[in-house]
Formats: sequence, structure tokens, C-alpha cells
Amino acid sequence: MLNVMPMFAVRPFTCQAEAMTTALAYALHRPTGRFEPTEIVRRELGPNDVAITILFAGICHSDIHTARQEWGKVTFPLVPGHEIAGIVEAVGSAVTSHAVGDRVGVGCMVNSCRSCENCLAGHEQYCAKGNVGTYNSKDFDETITQGGYSTRVVVNAHFVLKIPAGISLDVAAPLLCAGITMYSPLKRWGTETGKKVAILGLGGLGHMGVKIASAMGAEVTILSRTAAKQADAAALGATNFSLTDGDSLKKLRSSFDLIVNTVSATINVESTLSLLRFNGVLANVGVSPEPLSTRFSPLAQNNRVLAASGIGGINETQEMLDFCAAHGVGSTIETISASDIDAAYDRVVASDVRYRFVIDVSTF
Ligand code: NAP
Ligand code: ZN
Ligand code: ZN
Repeated sequence: MLNVMPMFAVRPFTCQAEAMTTALAYALHRPTGRFEPTEIVRRELGPNDVAITILFAGICHSDIHTARQEWGKVTFPLVPGHEIAGIVEAVGSAVTSHAVGDRVGVGCMVNSCRSCENCLAGHEQYCAKGNVGTYNSKDFDETITQGGYSTRVVVNAHFVLKIPAGISLDVAAPLLCAGITMYSPLKRWGTETGKKVAILGLGGLGHMGVKIASAMGAEVTILSRTAAKQADAAALGATNFSLTDGDSLKKLRSSFDLIVNTVSATINVESTLSLLRFNGVLANVGVSPEPLSTRFSPLAQNNRVLAASGIGGINETQEMLDFCAAHGVGSTIETISASDIDAAYDRVVASDVRYRFVIDVSTF
């Protein structure tokens, strides 16, 4: 059973006016710089907004790809962070879904048009006008969003999730990205009892994939480059573990119904596809800065499917949080202080994370 987090007092600010417009944050000012304490402006609370006192923020590899400009140019200063957990400090006059004191989370997006076909179907992440990312995105008011490595955030209520009782806020934070990014393809491709699922890459996403897929009833295999994490496999819920060298993979040909690729770099797509049985699916969620490639033939053989997805919609994210609470699933975390963010980035890149770094925002 997971710990229940005690209620937190809202961080005191020196005056009320300041409390409504600023936040303490850790920002990068240039791609090669280090994180520095900074004051950022948060918008005034609008009628549909929720103001949140942030207590914990997870570090996702996407924060690192972005900060290091591996996915393209970034607007600096940059405050990353899209795995946010905290307490509601104020709600706008029209908000009925959340109340002061509620335990809440914010994931990878903070706005979308809410009127296109995809938004109306609950797939806000695929908004036809583009969703507004939690950081480094232009919001509809033309401001650049700043993320969760910060003491407060103001977010449209639609994009604020309820963190169920039974999951403490620190282990809930990574569910807001890593959790939903794995839950969505696992559910979409029919993970259930009797299904053989492999998770490729055992990092932040990968470890959530193992926990969620095994809670869904699947027989889960971890595919990892070294034996360093083998001892953790069973504790996370996996039944099997295999290395990803050629000889090890040969033994697993045509074995899996579903492989979820969480690797943050290029993979050998063809040898990974060869592990799928008839109608098997390779679902990619890892976002390598370099393109992946495959010939057509490994797909045609065994009627295989190559798929990819990005996070999940808001309703599905709430469903994932409720599922995790019902199954006692939280992230396995190492809690760090603000001064440890730079070192944590290097450790994530070196695959030396067990299995998600979460920043304790009270150290700001
Ligand atoms: P992470 O904690 O660093 O985990 C990635 C894992 O990939 C590592 O633990 C490692 O597993 C494996 N790996 C790393 N470098 C590798 C290499 N050069 N070759 C082969 N395997 C390697 O990262 P994460 O936070 O889980 O994120 C994983 C990826 O998903 C990132 O690209 C991130 O941007 C992306 N992402 C996508 C979405 C989405 O919506 N699609 C959402 C969040 C994140 P082993 O040590 O076990 O081999
Ligand atoms: Zn993420
Ligand atoms: Zn839309």
C-alpha cells in the first residue's frame, strides 16, 4: 500500500500581489548552462484557471532532449517539467471541478483548442491546432509556457488531474507523463491476461510499463542492454528478462503480442520486429533524435504492426491515475534537491536512474 501524503501548507510569499504573479523556478538560460534559481511570472488566475502549489516534479528524458536542443531550438530561459504534483491553492470563479486543498497533477499539456474533432473525442494531445505543451510552447495568449521545476503554476482546470487518495504525491508525479505514455499504448493494443508483452528499455517509462502491463494481467518481459537491472525485473512485476544482443534476441523470435519501445536513442527496428508473433505490434513511445528505419518485409511477415503514440488524453490520464491507485501502482523514485538537477540529467543520460528522479520543490 502506498503512503498517503500529509496536506501541505501553501508556501508563504512576502505579499499577496507577488503571490498571484510570480513563482520560484530552476531555469536553464542557455543549452550548455546549469540550472539556476530564477523568478518567473505566472498569469493572474482567470475564471477557468486553477493555481497550484507544486510540491514534486519528475525529470523525464524529454526534458533533457528539449534542454539540450536535441529536438530543435528552444526558447531560453527554459523551465522544464511536465510531471507535476501539488495542492490547489486557488480556483477561478467558474471552476467547479477542483477545490482549494485538492491533491492534483499536471502532465505534458496545459491547453488545446477544445473544439476540434480530436479534442472533442478526448485526444487533446492530438489537437488539430496543436496542443500547448507545459513548457517551451506558445500558449494561445502568445506567452511561452514554463514547466514544473517551479513552486507554482496556473493551469486551465480542464488540464488539471485529480491524484487519488492512496498514491503519495512524490510517486504520483511521474505518472503524469511516464505513466500515461505507457498506459495508453498498453490499453490500445489489448494488454490483458495471457498476452505476452515486452518492454524495451528499462528507464522511467520502461519501469512504469512493466508495472502497468503486469497489473493489467500480461506476462511481461524486460529487454535491456545489460544485466545491471536484471535483479530489479521481478520486483517491478516482470516474469522474464532478456538482454538485447543478437544471440539473446534470436531465442525470442516470434514471441510477443506487443513490444513497447521506450528507448531514447535509435534501435534496430528490424530485429525488434522479428520478436513479434502473428499480428504483433511494435508500439514506439521513445523519441530518438535520429530517425528509425526498417524495410517493409519484416512488417509483412507475420502481419506485424508498427505504431507510435504520444502521451494520452485528459480523460485517459485520469483513468490511468485511478487504475494505478486501484492496483497500488506508483513510480519507483529517487527524490532529489534543486541543486541536484544537473547531476540527475547526466545520470539519466547514462541510464543510471532507478527509475525516476523527482525534484522536491520544497528545496527551491
Ligand atoms: P530514460 O529513463 O532515460 O530511459 C530510456 C531507456 O532507454 C534507458 O534506461 C535504457 O534502458 C535505454 N537506452 C538509453 N540509451 C540507449 C541507447 N543508446 N541504446 C539503447 N537503449 C538505450 O528515459 P525516459 O524518460 O523513460 O524516456 C524514454 C524516451 O521516451 C525518451 O526519448 C523520451 O523523450 C520519450 N518520451 C516519449 C513520450 C511520448 O509521449 N511518446 C513521453 C515521454 C517520454 P536499458 O538500460 O534498460 O537498456
Ligand atoms: Zn515526459
Ligand atoms: Zn483541438
